[in-house]
Parts: sequence; C-alpha cells; structure tokens
Amino acid sequence: MNGIYIALGSNIGDREGNLKRALDMLEESSVHIIKKSKFYETKPYGVADQPDFLNAVAEVSADMQPIDLLHTMQDIERCMGRERKRHWGERNIDLDLLIYPNVIMDTPELTLPHKDMENREFVLRPMTEIAPDLVHPVLGSTMQELLNALLY
Ligand code: ADP
Ligand code: MG
Repeated sequence: MNGIYIALGSNIGDREGNLKRALDMLEESSVHIIKKSKFYETKPYGVADQPDFLNAVAEVSADMQPIDLLHTMQDIERCMGRERKRHWGERNIDLDLLIYPNVIMDTPELTLPHKDMENREFVLRPMTEIAPDLVHPVLGSTMQELLNALLY
C-alpha cells in the first residue's frame, strides 16, 4: 500500500549519515521509499538545550499493518543503537509514523495520524515539499494549509 508517511530525525553524530542509513534499512525491511524530502536543518522542539536536528519525511509503501510497521521502525532505531536520554531529547535516530491511509487510531503505543504533527514545522515543511495537497484525515486540511496556519 502506498501513501504511508514516515518522519525521520537525528541530532547526534553524523546526522545526514544517520538519516540515509535509516532510509536504507527501511528498504532492506521491505518498506519501499517512494518519495523523500530534502533534509531540513531545524531547531529542537520541546527541549531547547540540545543540538539542532536534521529532519526529513518519506512516503513509503509496505504490505504491513500499522503496528507491524511501527515495530519494524523501532527495530531499526534499536539496531542503530538509539539511546533516548529524555523525552523529546537528543537522539541519533527517531522514526515516527505520521499517516497510514484510512487508519485513525489512538492507543498508547500508536496514534494515527501522529498526535502532534500539525504543530511541528519540522514535519509540515518537508510534508509540504512532497505532498502539499495531502489532506490530514482528522483535521481535514492539507499539509500546505497546516503549515500556513502554523507560520502565519
Ligand atoms: P518521541 O516522542 O520523543 O519521539 P519516542 O520516539 O520514543 O519519543 O516515542 C515514544 C512512544 O510513542 C513510543 O513508545 C511509541 O509507541 C509511541 N507512539 C505513539 N504513536 C506513534 C506514532 N505515530 N509514531 C511513532 N511512535 C508512536
Ligand atoms: Mg519517536
């Protein structure tokens, strides 16, 4: 199934290398990259006293249920040696599931669409680059509209 969107972020070590490695590992896990955004240099969100991030989003296709895809993403984080020092804190790789077509759910383990994406410029800017007209399934606005609402 196409139309699945994943966010990637890194702010420790070789940030560009980390994002590229995660994209490669997704492909190796049968999560095919259809489209990927540029890498965006962004200020940290939530916890300010940490290095700047490099962020990107990708449209992927995968024959997996959302929870299995999340577990695949978490395996990649673990395999890359992710250490999480604090919530919203620094990390060498962070993979979040943003949107899965026709799935709206809210459980502690997985919320879709991703809970806070409409408030995160580092998500909406790359989303607007690769899918400006994609409608947020709950809010009913496009990525471009959400970005404009956040900025202006
Ligand atoms: P952060 O909020 O800093 O990104 P984590 O990446 O460690 O923190 O994620 C915390 C928890 O968020 C995970 O245990 C995961 O199960 C949960 N979660 C809920 N919804 C999602 C989602 N859409 N994508 C990724 N993780 C999610
Ligand atoms: Mg995360």
